[in-house]
Amino acid sequence: MDRIKDFFSTFLLWELLKGMALTGRYMFAPKITIQFPEERTPMSPRFRGLHALRRYPNGEERCIACKLCETICPALAITIDLAEREDGSRRTTRYDIDLTKCIFCGMCEESCPVDAIVETRIFDYHGETRSDLIYTKEKLLAVGDKYEEQIAKDRAADAKYR
Ligand code: SF4
Ligand code: SF4
Repeated sequence: MDRIKDFFSTFLLWELLKGMALTGRYMFAPKITIQFPEERTPMSPRFRGLHALRRYPNGEERCIACKLCETICPALAITIDLAEREDGSRRTTRYDIDLTKCIFCGMCEESCPVDAIVETRIFDYHGETRSDLIYTKEKLLAVGDKYEEQIAKDRAADAKYR
């Protein structure tokens, strides 16, 4: 009996028809593939992507060079040098993040008392050499300046859980 069934199954291309039916069913189903980068999937305000250094609305850097982020970073990816200004305030003279070491754990932003170092929603950045992935203070501030609106919105959305 099984041999007869197998014969007709092969003769009538039953497996092929089953496969075509499955393909046909999915042809009209809603598509889950998105056309990146024109289309993007929804993202959490807590997404941990590329880092940024933020400023206050008057243009002053938020970072007070307390070095908490450097101390807590488990990957030793942050390097900070600092100096005191004439008015007695401290600011960084060097703030580097080596993204080849970073594990995007978010501990730097969690530890920062003034919300200066943050992780943004940006994940589609790249570097062609290792040095491209060492983000200096200037580069981090530029990211912060460019995306401040989104960063502020994300921080506000998450504020009640922090
Ligand atoms: S996200 Fe984690 S590993 Fe990356 S710089 Fe911050 S603390 Fe270090
Ligand atoms: S980014 Fe924040 S935690 Fe790191 S040194 Fe500046 S103020 Fe301190």
